[in-house]
Amino acid sequence: MENFKKPVIFMIVGIIFFLAFLIVIGSFFVLTAKRDLYSEKVQFLTEVSIKNADIIENKVSNQLNTLEAIAAFAGNYYTFNIDDDLSLLSLDFGKNNFKKIGIISLDGEGKTIDGYKYDFFDFTCFNKALNGESNVSDRIIDKADGQEINIFTTPIYKNGTVAGVIFATQNTSVFTEFLEVNSFNDEGYSYIIKSNGTPVVNTLHKNSIGKYDNLFDEISKIKSNKKNLLKFIDDMKNNKDGAVSFIRDDIKKQIGYSKVGINDWYMITVVPSKVISKGSDRLITGMVVTVVLILISALILGATILRIFKRNNNNLKAIAYTDFITGCPNWNKFTIDCRTLLTQNPDKEYAMIIFDVDKFKIINDLYGRNIGNEVLIHIAYVLSLNTREEECFARASADNFNILMEYKTDVDIINRIKLITAQIANYISSYIIELSFGIFKIEDKMLGISKLSEKANFAKLVAKQKTEFKYVFYNENMRDIILKEKEIENYMEVALLNKEFEVYLQPKYRIKDEKVVGAEALIRWNWAGKGIIPPGEFIPIFEKNGFIKKIDLYMFEQVCLILNKWKSNNLSLENSISVNISRIHLSNKNLPEELLSIAKKHNVNANNMEIELTESAVFEDINKLIKIMKKLKNEGFILSIDDFGSGYSSLSTLKDLPADVLKLDKGFLEATTDDIRGKDIISSFIKMTKILGLHTVAEGVETVEQVNFLKSAGCDIAQGYYYSKPLPVKEFERLVFNLISE
Ligand code: C2E
Ligand code: CA
Ligand code: CA
Repeated sequence: MENFKKPVIFMIVGIIFFLAFLIVIGSFFVLTAKRDLYSEKVQFLTEVSIKNADIIENKVSNQLNTLEAIAAFAGNYYTFNIDDDLSLLSLDFGKNNFKKIGIISLDGEGKTIDGYKYDFFDFTCFNKALNGESNVSDRIIDKADGQEINIFTTPIYKNGTVAGVIFATQNTSVFTEFLEVNSFNDEGYSYIIKSNGTPVVNTLHKNSIGKYDNLFDEISKIKSNKKNLLKFIDDMKNNKDGAVSFIRDDIKKQIGYSKVGINDWYMITVVPSKVISKGSDRLITGMVVTVVLILISALILGATILRIFKRNNNNLKAIAYTDFITGCPNWNKFTIDCRTLLTQNPDKEYAMIIFDVDKFKIINDLYGRNIGNEVLIHIAYVLSLNTREEECFARASADNFNILMEYKTDVDIINRIKLITAQIANYISSYIIELSFGIFKIEDKMLGISKLSEKANFAKLVAKQKTEFKYVFYNENMRDIILKEKEIENYMEVALLNKEFEVYLQPKYRIKDEKVVGAEALIRWNWAGKGIIPPGEFIPIFEKNGFIKKIDLYMFEQVCLILNKWKSNNLSLENSISVNISRIHLSNKNLPEELLSIAKKHNVNANNMEIELTESAVFEDINKLIKIMKKLKNEGFILSIDDFGSGYSSLSTLKDLPADVLKLDKGFLEATTDDIRGKDIISSFIKMTKILGLHTVAEGVETVEQVNFLKSAGCDIAQGYYYSKPLPVKEFERLVFNLISE
């Protein structure tokens, strides 16, 4: 699961980063745009101011041009008799739009064509004109009507010197008309001040400051304006144009200012800041909306991708966690589920159980892979019925299944295993499915699931070697056993080549005359450097891995060699030498021919060879067993049923087998010798075998009492430590033939 979490986290982090990036970029862009737009507007404000200043300047210079044209005419034609000249001047009036027009004599006395008199002696505008400069005055009050006017003056030259001054007046309000600001939604307005802050031309705009004596004083009334005011004043002092913001009546206003070029006049253009930022605000809103839309789209996109991803992930998970044959959980899922269950239930006891189907390959071979798969599916089904809420199971691989089982006692586990086995056993009608279970009772829940499983697996390998009740609880020795098994498997072929497998012969005695009439060949492994290893330690392993087929034929051949050697020395036993042939060979229908060809190769008569087949072989497939036994018998071999009485076969099954000899299992003898009833059973049993035409050989005879009993019961032959242990061939020969080794 962790595997799938990672990319999701990765993706969420990615999306968050992307959104954060978008927000940062968006805000940066919006703020920059806002700033740029604002300064652009402010710039524009300054430009409007400059344009207005130009208009005023043009207007004034037009007026002055008009006056200068009149003055030029005057220079040529005026007599400088003021009344005569005024009548000449009045001819021109009406061609221009001055309020009044008149002439000022050099002594400063001015007279208009309509008869008004003014004293200009102290007027700057007059003095400037005397100095040859056409100009316009600041705002003054017309004493004729009390209106605010400006006075235009220009010198009249007569023979190169100023002989008088033409003057004209104009209501200041005429300028006002030119100061309307068309931009900024009628919220903007302009007016003209002198550089000392006193008004020149006022505005009629509704938002304007109204009447004031000095603009600077008005502005300085608000403390926070001070800093910008200083710049404002300073710029004017230095004849610079610019823009600043001021606050009036709690409204922030942006003021653009530029020098008019007349006197020290400054054009002031005012717009409320919010009007300036209005456009940019709209743009910013637009941008914010865009960014938000992108954000939402990104979120929707992200969510969609995540959903798709999750769905795919779920599909992937389903694939990754499901066994493709049975549809049940697989190993990956099992490890996750186990981890969760073990951590969530610290107080519960759990066992890790592993089982597999014995000889599953045979099922596949006999019934086909489809049936094999069906068996696996059935097992998964049975497990799904038999696992509880807080347990889990899986098909880990091939025919290997794992169960994490909760338990209170060992019996709990065994009962449930038996139930599972029973529900699986008869799935194929003509075949009993057998299972081997390894059980590991978990003590340390922190152990890795693989480790737990490994331990259960050791137990299972041991269970495999059992013939019934194939479940084994793990113990610490098992590891060693399994490792030893591995060592044996790795070395067995080499050992065979090295001739480390040796034949020991255990004599069979005829009880009545205590004479050796036969022998059983028993294998010993003389492992180089390790010494003699008893067959109990390796035969089961060889049976499991099939090496037993080689080893039994090898033993058979060794015995043939011995018989052949004896034959050439004119030595012989009254009966045969028996060789153990594992039930594993029953799957090989050519076994009789193979054995015969070996015997023939060494010139040994089949009836000198006895073949011991264990009683448990009956359970494999009795028909097959009968077939092979019949064939062997036809070839002339003597047949014996080994370990009779250790299993469940009865005399009634026996009568169908073409056997010659019945070997009573040593356990059979042990259990019955002390017990009167047991003795009776054995005696009647031996009688019965005689009726069936079989000889009996008693195995594991250790005491004289046993010998006496067997004698009274009519048993012919006995084999056991009482007489002799299995002996190396040379010792056997010395014992039986009094042969001193060559
Ligand atoms: P088994 O065929 O039942 O062989 C008899 C076992 O009883 C032998 O054990 C023998 O040493 C032991 N025995 C003989 N007399 C006495 C006695 O008085 N008391 C006791 N307690 N035991 C006695 P061994 O040689 O260890 O062989 C064990 C088993 O290994 C054999 O049981 C046989 O099943 C198998 N085996 C031995 N050699 C071969 C072989 O070449 N091929 C196959 N397939 N199996 C073999
Ligand atoms: Ca035997
Ligand atoms: Ca035996």
